[in-house]
Amino acid sequence: MTAALPTTWLDIPADHPFGVGALPYGVFSTAATPEPRVGVAIGALILDLAGAARDLAPDLVSVVSGPALNALLAAGPQVWAEVRAAVTAWLTDDTHRQRVEPHLVAATDASLHVPFSVSDYVDFYASEQHATNLGRMFRPGQDPLTPNWKHLPIGYHGRAGTVIASGTDVVRPQGQRRSPDGEITFGPSQRLDIEAELGFVVGAPSELGVPVAHTAFERHVFGICLVNDWSARDIQAWEYVPLGPFLGKSFATSVSPWVLPLAALEAARVAPPERTVPLLPYLDDAETPPWGLDIRLEVRLNGHLISSPRFASMYWTGAQMMAHMTANGASLRTGDLYASGTISGAEADERGSLIELSWGGQEPLKLGDGSTRTFLEDGDEVVISASLPGPGGSVIGLGEVRGRIRPAS
Ligand code: CA
Repeated sequence: MTAALPTTWLDIPADHPFGVGALPYGVFSTAATPEPRVGVAIGALILDLAGAARDLAPDLVSVVSGPALNALLAAGPQVWAEVRAAVTAWLTDDTHRQRVEPHLVAATDASLHVPFSVSDYVDFYASEQHATNLGRMFRPGQDPLTPNWKHLPIGYHGRAGTVIASGTDVVRPQGQRRSPDGEITFGPSQRLDIEAELGFVVGAPSELGVPVAHTAFERHVFGICLVNDWSARDIQAWEYVPLGPFLGKSFATSVSPWVLPLAALEAARVAPPERTVPLLPYLDDAETPPWGLDIRLEVRLNGHLISSPRFASMYWTGAQMMAHMTANGASLRTGDLYASGTISGAEADERGSLIELSWGGQEPLKLGDGSTRTFLEDGDEVVISASLPGPGGSVIGLGEVRGRIRPAS
């Protein structure tokens, strides 16, 4: 059983995704106060965290100040628990109401920013179904899963500098590609795609040269967000051998504005799928509490639901990805972002990318308005949202990550 859900003095519908069991962190600004600052989403409001701390908990001001979450991320799990306990108390104990209310802002009045200064960005490939589907399309006639796939979480280093805020337009990338008859051309991508993913946000750093065990996940990883790893399949298919994704991915990666702390995930923890190949000790999580997550995503294209991927189907957990990423002694930095890879399930309506949903462009997707898509057209807007079990039987949310395609420039 998970903890009961405390009641709040705020008037929030019981099924609101940002109820008192969620309390995600983000960075916002308003027309009246344009400086970006740290906030906590509560219902349709945002709590100005530094402002509230100045009045209610001056010793916490330094870690919740500034234009990004990085000071809080760096402070480590004891402070994360203190801040969450304080915010929970402010929003649930009526005696704080008068001092808290002046620091609440309507979310509709706020602009939301990339919530943390991104240090390194890594993208994994942790869905067996996605890797199998892509293997079938990119390497027909061969085993769809590469021989290493079930021994280690495959990943690559992405481009931290092009991680962008939800709502930022994505300019259609140009690049080099090869046509089926072998012609090499340069131009706007004709196979622009999405990848619906979960992102893990690193808080406390680790020491260079010292691997971090998967059991130390909660000591280093602060929380999760949503990621759309925009992908130009034609550029990717031509460039990726032998070193992996490069310009087909690095033009833009969108992140959701709200980071949900691991502390909000207790009720969502589930066992990952059964491992069919024995794991080396540094990845073996059979005897530890599981970090599979019962998170249901929804992908909408121009408002039409096109997919409902489930993170619970992911073969590798965020804890294993962290352990593998540091197994060689590479250190974690505050603000590192690592994403799960496309979340795709076994069912056709659980595929987290258009290349899978349209099977390489051969089976156009029908949208609710009668139009069809294989890949993204200029003007298309993609919104990925997610929900998960919260405390006391509640359902909480991760918010959404949104982006619209602009023509190539
Ligand atoms: Ca990806």
